[in-house]
Amino acid sequence: MLKAHYPLERFSSIRTPFYYYDMALLRETLEAIRAQVANRPAWKVHYAVKANHNPVILKQIASAGLGADCVSGGEIQAALDAGFAPESIVFAGVGKADWEIILGLKAGIGRFNIESTAEMRVIAQIAAERGVVAPVSIRVNPDIGAHTLAGITTGLAENKFGIFHGQVEEVIREILSLPSLSYCGLHFHIGSQILEMEDFAALCNRINSICEQLENRRLPVGDINVGGGLGIEYGHPNHLPIANFQAYFNTFSELLPPRYPLHFELGRSIVASCGSLIARVLYVKEGLAKKFAVLDAGMNDLLRPALYHSIHRIENLSSDGKETIYDVVGPVCESSDVFGKGIVLNECHRGDLIAIRSAGAYGESMASQYNCRPLARSVFSE
Ligand SMILES: *Cc1c(COP(=O)(O)O)cnc(C)c1O
Repeated sequence: MLKAHYPLERFSSIRTPFYYYDMALLRETLEAIRAQVANRPAWKVHYAVKANHNPVILKQIASAGLGADCVSGGEIQAALDAGFAPESIVFAGVGKADWEIILGLKAGIGRFNIESTAEMRVIAQIAAERGVVAPVSIRVNPDIGAHTLAGITTGLAENKFGIFHGQVEEVIREILSLPSLSYCGLHFHIGSQILEMEDFAALCNRINSICEQLENRRLPVGDINVGGGLGIEYGHPNHLPIANFQAYFNTFSELLPPRYPLHFELGRSIVASCGSLIARVLYVKEGLAKKFAVLDAGMNDLLRPALYHSIHRIENLSSDGKETIYDVVGPVCESSDVFGKGIVLNECHRGDLIAIRSAGAYGESMASQYNCRPLARSVFSE
């Protein structure tokens, strides 16, 4: 069975479970993005901090010159601490608290992506009280579906995100009337783990029709933030470790007119592949009809399989034994604490090291201490 190369000798002395990050792969991924945007000076890529806010990861991404896409005051602070330029920080989220808005204004972040008229008026008031002007874009709900896991579509009318696309015009007019707001552009985000470029093409079509309408009314469009959502190949981390950035960026350059400066907000596709959750087999349990490999990592360490029924490739790093079928489970007292059912692994024994692949995005950042379990620490390839 094909496996990634890990420093097993080094691993033998580290307490499991832990997150392991391949920093060379992260840099390669950032370089692949740079190669796509280098000759497109009006484009800006922001990293979606919620995918992974580990300070070492953030610093690497900041040093590659990306901006940061934040969804909370805590993320804004983490981005500032990691060295992201304040003006490269964009701030989205349906529930921005007053202290988070104030933090963003004080830091001088580049953009508030407003998600409702109620929020727009609060930002206007807080900015006015402080004698500053808040740069805002309108997060538009484009009512575009995405072929992905049900829990992670965000651009449908039924989702809580954004301002309905039919209301954009009146909201722009109100922003233009408020002296403490400066209108900067439009923001979209249709979901996550999207591998069908047609979904992004549908978004582009919607963007074009909205912009055409605004231009017909002599209203400004500003710049366009198309959000994130590019997926990765969870089933093939060894063959396809880097997302198809070329297809992704080409979709937008082909379908949107070059006169609009474009912003992107990629999270998963930047960090997912470089991270693995490393665990040990505690027990091999013979059930009535199947075998269970019980790991010392659980859903508190990596929530995605329990939350989204998502799939991660799993490898037994310690064994070349006969390929055997297991349900790979964690120790947490929940039936949903399962990393995978019917997984083929080299025969497992107590103490074997297991890698759960492509866990760099929405892994460590979603971890909890449920069951009073300590947080898994992070280990870096260098
Ligand atoms: C989560 C999020 C992203 C990043 O999504 P990925 O699927 O990780 O690329 C981008 N923009 C916004 C507004 C988000 O909430």
